[in-house]
Amino acid sequence: MRILVQKFGGTSLSTEQARERVIRHIARERESGYAVVVVVSAMGRKGEPYATDTLLSFIRDNGDSLPPREKDLLLGCGEIISAAALCSLLLSRGIPAAALTGGGAGILTDDQFGTARIRSIQTDRIMRLLGQDKVVIVTGFQGVTAEGDLTTLGRGGSDTSATALGAALRAELVDIYTDVNGILTADPRIVTEAKQLAYVSYTEIGNMARQGAKVIHPRAVEVAQQARIPVRVRSTFSEETGTLVTDAPPAAQAEAVKDRFVTGIAHVSGVTQISVKAIEGRNDMQLQVFQTMAKHHISVDFINVTPSGAVYTVFDQDAEHALALLRASGFAPTAVQGCAKISVIGGGMSGQPGVMARIVEALTEQGITIMQSADSNMTIWVLVQQEDMAKALRALHAKFDLHR
Ligand code: ADP
Ligand code: MG
Repeated sequence: MRILVQKFGGTSLSTEQARERVIRHIARERESGYAVVVVVSAMGRKGEPYATDTLLSFIRDNGDSLPPREKDLLLGCGEIISAAALCSLLLSRGIPAAALTGGGAGILTDDQFGTARIRSIQTDRIMRLLGQDKVVIVTGFQGVTAEGDLTTLGRGGSDTSATALGAALRAELVDIYTDVNGILTADPRIVTEAKQLAYVSYTEIGNMARQGAKVIHPRAVEVAQQARIPVRVRSTFSEETGTLVTDAPPAAQAEAVKDRFVTGIAHVSGVTQISVKAIEGRNDMQLQVFQTMAKHHISVDFINVTPSGAVYTVFDQDAEHALALLRASGFAPTAVQGCAKISVIGGGMSGQPGVMARIVEALTEQGITIMQSADSNMTIWVLVQQEDMAKALRALHAKFDLHR
């Protein structure tokens, strides 16, 4: 059996027109001989009636009054609505189909409600339904604990449901359908001249996703990479096949990829830069600072430690808490709120001289101050003020000729 997993995101399911498109993609792949498993998100985006954010608004204080276990019951509803609606639509067109919850599909998770991790997938139920020639619809973002409680996988979790199912079912391919034509060189909402990539490696898109490109969830990429399952990110609103994620690009594209040293640019906004000076006579500063952050579950990034002090970033919403903790430990931290982290990513970057020089050149030409920078073999990060972010993204995009 040749199995194909198709995942449809919120905007792909939110209107009748979009759902017609979804039906077409399913029917086409079925006709070409695939056994099709469909993973669905909740319909629409923030503000729309069944979107996950809207469901959250039904509980007081955005959820603090409801324990995580019960909160997951609510959060999982959006996908259930999508699955049932899509199932009825398929049946009405004479396409045999069945809809399953994550648990019903055999997706077992731990009991970290709200951010559950998939432990295993028992595929016999899905395989049986596929054997009956049915399209199997599975609610994304969802699993079940050993106790039988519904869990959710955290934001972007439907992408992970799709690649995890792809891995468990040994699918030939996982297609992530969304509202853009594929993976682009930067977020098209900010960089309008961003260009679609024909191919990216798992590591490149994994890095882009971790650094803020929300077109696919980083965990979903890891799962696909481990199982070596090719993923395509493509548009529900087109027949084009989008961007292929694999480590084995087709020969035709391998040539073009060879001399590409920057693949894409990603960004994360809403971060605060914190600086802590070492105190004379106290040699526990570094340890104290990072142990304190860890103990209070404040995630830190962009860490730069020297004998004279430590500089790092936290999300804006954690900044006040972090600063209060530091003061309580006897430090006198300073902070710059409202910063953005920009990442320039490329698998061919390592060993290439002059990449940093070009980044500095692009930003200096625009009068943008680099507040901090760091690099690894495939990524260079710079921290800038939020108000410079869009300008910086466009300048870097142009400097590396990514629009070509
Ligand atoms: P879905 O609901 O289908 O999961 P998402 O909103 O999660 O859709 O992801 C698609 C969005 O990701 C696009 O609309 C686009 O604005 C954004 N995005 C950010 N960075 C990129 C990128 N590098 N390439 C493509 N899309 C990107
Ligand atoms: Mg998404």
